[in-house]
Amino acid sequence: MGGTAPALEVDDLTAGYGPVRALRRVSLTVPAGAVVTVLGGNGAGKSTLLRAVSRTLRFHGGSVVSGTVRRDGRPLDGLTPDRVVAAGVSQVPEGRQVFARMTVEDNLRAGALGDRRGGRAARSAALRRVHELFPVLADRARQPAGLLSGGEQQMLAVGRALMAAPGLLLLDEPSLGLAPLMAARIADAVREINAQGTAVLLVEQNAALALRLASHAYVLEVGEVTLSGPAADLAASDEVRRRYLGVVDEDAAADAADARTAPPVLSRWEATP
Ligand code: ATP
Repeated sequence: MGGTAPALEVDDLTAGYGPVRALRRVSLTVPAGAVVTVLGGNGAGKSTLLRAVSRTLRFHGGSVVSGTVRRDGRPLDGLTPDRVVAAGVSQVPEGRQVFARMTVEDNLRAGALGDRRGGRAARSAALRRVHELFPVLADRARQPAGLLSGGEQQMLAVGRALMAAPGLLLLDEPSLGLAPLMAARIADAVREINAQGTAVLLVEQNAALALRLASHAYVLEVGEVTLSGPAADLAASDEVRRRYLGVVDEDAAADAADARTAPPVLSRWEATP
């Protein structure tokens, strides 16, 4: 065969929390070096998907029921979360979750703990990369992370994940709750991280932002993949435009406007003399 193995292959994955099936037979691929996005509304199963990949589902009372997850062609199934990090996969969980009372630099140090591959030189290189991406984290190194703004905390959460020098970054709604300008800065950073060679699996409710970043996209609805394809194709599809990009279907809108201005139509019953 030859060629490069995908950064991530999720194959026929079913997972849930006790009796709740949050994912049903989900399959997706992140090609080597790509940014892939998973779109979906509240409760679609996006966070569950990332937790299943990072093997952290059980911390949330969940488990994988069936299916396989492969990284660079090797299965992650059965690994502990720290071994997943060692296999080159780091997750930025939803809601940032920085250690508020710890300093910014200690938060970053904590991100390197799960990485058993790198020595001191690797950690210094990772820290330099994080500081180049997010200079504010160098400026505020000695301050408690809780004093950072929401956007800066998101930078710290991303920076912490990068400290393990991952080949694949799992990002859970990085734009959540951020003003548009800050969300755009985070998006620029994701682009830069990817350009430096890290593949990205991005789950987002902000479809406009995600579809600009990604080459491929999947739509998840109530635990199942209902649409997938090149991001540009999904961005152009009526369904995605209507449901996820808030674009009004112009014909339907015109029909609705006509219906409001047209004289009331008599029903067949009333029209009958
Ligand atoms: P959101 O965008 O709102 O975060 P999501 O797409 O990330 O949503 P998930 O958080 O993965 O969706 O939730 C998928 C389903 O699993 C939902 O029905 C949710 O209620 C359920 N669920 C999520 N976490 C848990 C949990 N810890 N225990 C039980 N059920 C859960």
